[in-house]
Amino acid sequence: QNQSHSVLITGSTSGIGLAIAHCFARAGHHVMLHGLADNETADALRAAFAGYPGNQGFSSADIASEAGCAQLVADTREAIGNPSILINNAGIQHTAAAHEFPSDKWHQILSINLSASFFLCRELLPAMRAARWGRIINVASVHGLVASENKSAYCAAKHGLVGLTKVLALENADHNITANAICPGWVETPLIQPQIEHIAREQQIDLETARAELVGAKQPMARATSPDAIGELALYLCGDFAGTITGAALPVDGGWSAQ
Ligand code: NAD
Repeated sequence: QNQSHSVLITGSTSGIGLAIAHCFARAGHHVMLHGLADNETADALRAAFAGYPGNQGFSSADIASEAGCAQLVADTREAIGNPSILINNAGIQHTAAAHEFPSDKWHQILSINLSASFFLCRELLPAMRAARWGRIINVASVHGLVASENKSAYCAAKHGLVGLTKVLALENADHNITANAICPGWVETPLIQPQIEHIAREQQIDLETARAELVGAKQPMARATSPDAIGELALYLCGDFAGTITGAALPVDGGWSAQ
């Protein structure tokens, strides 16, 4: 990594996004932190990143709407300049059977987990194309490749995100822009906590046993991936040796999608 880039990482106040942001900042890049956070959390984030060599910015734009996505792009350009690396990571989950799935949750998941990625790509691609260099990484999921019960909106959005990634790879192949999806299985973050709590309640077991049950149910390697591992893969995808990896959906799932 011999050049510093401006990198926008959506949903980087927590979990995987935060780990990705640390990886890129450690490697000397300028990072735009983003997520739903109060002032106190934002200040703590800024302080945590202050020691890195590059510049940082923060935006709390709600990317559930197209206007929110435009706001995030404007905030990013103001703070760290035009990003040549976009990491679409923000995402939410809600589990319920399709025949009982609430409309508001359906729309919210599709907006944040899929449409926001499209709007941000559309905003940032023209400058990447003009510069003839860009990297787009979409944090999808193993649920972009295979299905699980009770995740209709999430699976629809993540399968859609994998499809979007492939189209972007084709359209921009002649502009030296790669687009890839990372497809994690279980990663230890706050996002999976409600599912652990649900199992603990249903089976009247403690949280640690419920966590082991959740992770082991579908993932042959019955241990969760660390958020840092996703950060290191994202960094690799932006490095010189990954220049011809494009349109890929890369599982980091302990063998889940091999079945
Ligand atoms: P997390 O809950 O720890 O973090 C989610 C981030 O998204 C936060 O920064 C939050 O503020 C932000 N966000 C949510 N809604 C937003 C909105 N409307 N506007 C702006 N920001 C918003 O979750 P995580 O586990 O780190 O998940 C990150 C990504 O990884 C998601 O896309 C998720 O689907 C995906 N993923 C997670 C796992 C896992 O096991 N944790 C597995 C596969 C894929």
